[in-house]
Amino acid sequence: MYIYNEKESINNLLKYYQYNYAASGILFICCILITFYSDKNYFKGLLSLLIVSWVTWFGHYALHKYPNTPMAKFHKLTHHSEFGKTFWGKFLEYTINEIWTFGGGILWLVVLLLKKITGVYWLNPWVIMWWTISVPLVHEVYYHQTTKPNIHDIHHKYQLTSLHPDIWDIILKTKKDKTPIEDETSIAMVMLVWCIIYLFIMKLLKKRF
Ligand SMILES: [Zn+2]
Ligand SMILES: [Zn+2]
Repeated sequence: MYIYNEKESINNLLKYYQYNYAASGILFICCILITFYSDKNYFKGLLSLLIVSWVTWFGHYALHKYPNTPMAKFHKLTHHSEFGKTFWGKFLEYTINEIWTFGGGILWLVVLLLKKITGVYWLNPWVIMWWTISVPLVHEVYYHQTTKPNIHDIHHKYQLTSLHPDIWDIILKTKKDKTPIEDETSIAMVMLVWCIIYLFIMKLLKKRF
């Protein structure tokens, strides 16, 4: 297990990729597959993945950095409270907050709006939506249901740290010092299985419209 050390920026990144080259490769392949079955613009597809993953970090960071905004209060109520552990807490958090804010739904809406205005998809909306649904999926299934203890517990203790994904916490220095660097392999596997289902959904939707 590699431990994050906030004084060693470059070393942390190297350690992250030593640990996670396979997981990163899986996400890369998922992104290439979705792009292949949509517009085949691979640069745009990968750029979409990069930006939407950052939106996840930034959106979650903003919710905790500015706790007095309505959405931040909503996240606090539906996730960082006793109510957050109930079915309805989870339901509201995932369908209203997570999908539309830091999951990336907001970026998806911006991309669709820009398409209406400019006639061009500036990013790949299929890649964004695959990631967006992955966020609550990984959050609930992996971090809250199956793997204990895990680095997401750190976020529930120290709310301005471990905002995820781990790579952005490392680059943007919001990772709690001396905590383990995440092994993303299982998460990547969850996202791969979801990607395969997603490709079938894409095919079905394309037939219909
Ligand atoms: Zn959580
Ligand atoms: Zn949070």
